[in-house]
Amino acid sequence: MVEAHRQGVSHALAAGYALLEKGASSVDAVEAAVAVMEDDETFDAGRGSFLTRDGRVQLDALLMDGATLRAGGVACVERLRNPIHAARLVLEKSPHVYFVGSGAEAFAAEHGMPLIDNSELVLDRERQNLANAQEKERDGLPDATFAGGTANLPAATSHDTVGAVALDAHGNLAAATSTGGTLNKAPGRVGDSSLIGCGCYADNLSAAVSLTGWGEPMMKLVLGKWAVDRVQQGTPPAQAAEEAIAYLFRRLGGHGGIILLGPAGRVGVAHNTSRMAWGVQTARGTEVHTDGKSA
Ligand code: ASP
Repeated sequence: MVEAHRQGVSHALAAGYALLEKGASSVDAVEAAVAVMEDDETFDAGRGSFLTRDGRVQLDALLMDGATLRAGGVACVERLRNPIHAARLVLEKSPHVYFVGSGAEAFAAEHGMPLIDNSELVLDRERQNLANAQEKERDGLPDATFAGGTANLPAATSHDTVGAVALDAHGNLAAATSTGGTLNKAPGRVGDSSLIGCGCYADNLSAAVSLTGWGEPMMKLVLGKWAVDRVQQGTPPAQAAEEAIAYLFRRLGGHGGIILLGPAGRVGVAHNTSRMAWGVQTARGTEVHTDGKSA
């Protein structure tokens, strides 16, 4: 599993960086990197995502352009293979910023995206995960499925939301996040990932950020914006990332991970989950990590 995460992150970096090398924008790069991970069944995004309590995949994604603050978000979509491409269409083609459910699917279809059957996104592995979570729930056992969420829930065994941040040759930042949300979630539940300033944010004047983890506490703290604001006030991204995760835990007992990129290309990464896979690619080379606990 750790190796699959390492591979997935490497492929995403390669896809995003290849575009940046050709002079593409940071928005193009983060979209491509996230699409690669949506297509990879290892992650909780696109096909292979966690299931809702009624056994369906419901996806949320956001893309944000730090140069213009244009953003595109979709939530609760069930018939799109790559919700990050729908988010890009919202960013490019709509005066609105955010679409949900069937309206989001109709918007994507009007702009040429194929609508698929939800079953194409569902894996047997995830049917089994859902059955296990629901069995624990019936037995009244504490579980990492977020049902009933209290600050005392144990850290989830897995999050696997995907995200990317990038800085292009023109000095523009962008961020993207895509998720299937939390295991056994109620249909219609939206987490932090696709909400502006929660699981994703980008502004050339501050930083670009993407988060993963238990969404409800992160939403309440508007944690992405909290982190980029610290960078704007002069905190180095590495320190702002650590502080954000420390604040999440101190204030609400939350757990998660963050990738943060400042306008000068400085990177910050932190998490208080048991592991997090992440990587960086620059002109100087590529690193991929599958860290144990950092914060
Ligand atoms: N943050 C996501 C959510 O709450 C889940 C995750 O990162 O795994 O929807």
